[in-house]
Amino acid sequence: MIIFVAVTLSAQGCADSVPSSRARWEMEQGGLVSSGQHGLLLRAQSVLARVESGCGTLPLHIAVLTNDAPVAHSFRDGSLYVSTGLMRQFTDEELAAALAHELGHLVIDGLVSPEPAALAGVALQTDDVELHADLLARNILHAHGLPPAALTTALEKVAAASRHESFYQPLVRRMKTLQTLDAQAR
Ligand SMILES: [Zn+2]
Repeated sequence: MIIFVAVTLSAQGCADSVPSSRARWEMEQGGLVSSGQHGLLLRAQSVLARVESGCGTLPLHIAVLTNDAPVAHSFRDGSLYVSTGLMRQFTDEELAAALAHELGHLVIDGLVSPEPAALAGVALQTDDVELHADLLARNILHAHGLPPAALTTALEKVAAASRHESFYQPLVRRMKTLQTLDAQAR
């Protein structure tokens, strides 16, 4: 499990089933953090505010999942999720990079793809889709005065937490591309 961006079908047309399925999904991911961990939510909201402007997405809502794996998800209704594990391991700049990658998915394919997508990639997703989101994330970070290289170190942490071959090898390919871009930018 890595940094996920899940892009789901719109709630339109199935409004009755969506709340329960989302609540079930949240529970499967470890559930939302308790009110006693409000500081985590405030940090996530604060970092999201640093990257979301100008992306042209729906209004965004972020929540924190109780999950030790460094995962982040987003749904095409504008719901974003980051895990406690991700927030513990990532700097604010890396957290911004993870969110920027997910915003990239929402901007690029959120309106067309019903399939979950992921920062780490998912089985049915192509490298092209992930790289496209990475490149847009770099642009988003740069436009907001944040270092694009934070995405590279974020992916390195994701890769370190994942030894599942179907995630790890695509991550390595993307990191190589990002490292080349980082070097060119220096
Ligand atoms: Zn992704």
